[in-house]
Amino acid sequence: LPDVFMAAMPVLKTLEDGSFEAYFVGGSVRDILLGRHIHDVDIATSAYPEEVKELFDKSIDTGIKHGTVTVLYNGESYEITTFRTESGYQDFRRPDHVTFVQNLDEDLKRRDFTINALAMNTDGEIVDLFDGLDDLHHQLIRAVGNPETRFHEDALRMMRAVRFMSQLKFSLGEKTEQAIADNHELLKKISVERIRDEFVKMGIGPNSREAFQVFLDTKLSEDVPDFEGKSELLSVYPKLQFSPTLETSLWSIIIILLKIQNDKIGKFMRDWKNSNAMTNDVEQIVAFFDLLSDHVPSDYELFITGKKTLLNTIDVAHILGQPVDSEALVDRYLALPIKNSNELAVDGRFLIENGVRPGPKLGKLLNEIKQKVISGELENTEDAIGEYIQA
Ligand code: ATP
Ligand code: MG
Repeated sequence: LPDVFMAAMPVLKTLEDGSFEAYFVGGSVRDILLGRHIHDVDIATSAYPEEVKELFDKSIDTGIKHGTVTVLYNGESYEITTFRTESGYQDFRRPDHVTFVQNLDEDLKRRDFTINALAMNTDGEIVDLFDGLDDLHHQLIRAVGNPETRFHEDALRMMRAVRFMSQLKFSLGEKTEQAIADNHELLKKISVERIRDEFVKMGIGPNSREAFQVFLDTKLSEDVPDFEGKSELLSVYPKLQFSPTLETSLWSIIIILLKIQNDKIGKFMRDWKNSNAMTNDVEQIVAFFDLLSDHVPSDYELFITGKKTLLNTIDVAHILGQPVDSEALVDRYLALPIKNSNELAVDGRFLIENGVRPGPKLGKLLNEIKQKVISGELENTEDAIGEYIQA
């Protein structure tokens, strides 16, 4: 067993010594069986949250209502969730309330996909009620139980299906895919933020182009912000040369494919509830992409663009199969006399000391100097710049 599991073993043992049942569950079990990197382990137990808290010195009430306590043990934190079922899915979203149960089977039944419904005990034995091991072997994502029912309970699961397709390089089970195609409109009930998180994971996963094709084929794409009626434009995505690995690249590519005008990028990003910082980065990438398709950038344009946007735009152009001489652009950027305005050898005070009057003209002159330094017409020294002002 990997180190993360061995480190968590005493936590399970502590629960067992308290005469409770305890299992590793969910994504972490799936991921060790696949030999994937594990970032966190989830633990399920028959103990109630209060009982869990009594067994450990340090704990945090992460989601007590839903039965989750985070336990701090040996410098690590573990989410321990009481076996539960969910009931009363009112409007295709999260359940109204959870009911704690005493056995693992009920808990596994509520989980979304068979590969996510595996549990492992302290002896390393796997509990597999829904042929999840078989599906792992065949690289299949199948809903636990009737997919139609499960998507009506929680429509986000449809996005999770294509997200796992992309991340794991799996296919969808036939009935699961059909149920998505038949019920894609339910996605409208889900908050944009939750859809976005799954969309991004799908878009930047290793199998994103195949997953995106299914996202289009099942018409899930019709029920997310600004994609309605756009499947023709978006159908280029599955044909891209590579999958984006950066979120900024993903959004930039989508915006370019959708031919969204510059002044509408902010609206698009807000519709998806993206952060201002993300929106800013993406706006800059798309703007520089447009510039690159129009002309070879000047040194000053490279300076204004900056290294981060330059590299991100090269990434985007590469994925879109747009020819750019990336090496030349990077070399030219690296050779710029200054990369930052504060690297200029002079400032406003220097100009004043050399006889320039304060006012709007000073700012203009400073900018002119900066441009000449960047283009190599003027040496970035006080002497050279001083001489330039006098002349
Ligand atoms: P990741 O590697 O992205 O964390 P994960 O499988 O651990 O993948 P989580 O969202 O962390 O996914 O959820 C943990 C587990 O909880 C899942 O493996 C699944 O068993 C269950 N689960 C999560 N979301 C849902 C849902 N919407 N419906 C049913 N079960 C869910
Ligand atoms: Mg997880």
